[in-house]
Amino acid sequence: MYPPGHLAIDLILVSSANRMIGKNIIPMWPALIAAILPDIVDKVVTDYLHWMPFGRNYLHNLTAVFVGMVFLWLLSSRWEIGVSWAIGLMGHLIGDFVFIPWFWPWFDYVWPNETRQIAQGVVQTVMDLAQGKELSPLAAAVWQYGRLIMECVMFGAVLIYLSNRFKSSIRTFALIVSLCAWLYIVIQWDWAPFMWSFEHFGIK
Ligand SMILES: [Zn+2]
Repeated sequence: MYPPGHLAIDLILVSSANRMIGKNIIPMWPALIAAILPDIVDKVVTDYLHWMPFGRNYLHNLTAVFVGMVFLWLLSSRWEIGVSWAIGLMGHLIGDFVFIPWFWPWFDYVWPNETRQIAQGVVQTVMDLAQGKELSPLAAAVWQYGRLIMECVMFGAVLIYLSNRFKSSIRTFALIVSLCAWLYIVIQWDWAPFMWSFEHFGIK
């Protein structure tokens, strides 16, 4: 999943958690960091450092959910910050459900074959755009435009849902739009690859 989809899911989850608790006690920012940071760290680890064979590794697993939660909790002396990280990273993993090494590093994994170089592709995209060139193959391979547009729809609708400037009927409608966009993304782009990866990759 791209950043807009991850941000949308985590905004929905943390606001729902606050709603269930009945007050705005869980801060949003740790969850939003958990929406973005895993893809930066894990893709750099894979593309530039070559420490791992696939771009979902150190921060794409349940250990990182738990360790991050305890670490932030102890560091800040506020459980809400740790819980926000845990919710946010779980949301991230759910968004990336096609393949997640859930129990890494406790089990060995058969990793998917990554044909794209995502971190390098993003950097190349910025360089190509800055020079006004057409995207080179390395850059173009990173972007599925239809999916990116749907994730932006999802994200925009969530922002409307969370904004006080709109009537509650519009906000409810926006939430439904966002959830439908997510469902469409899963059916259109994720489900078949998930079934394939479920059969071929996973714990050794
Ligand atoms: Zn990810």
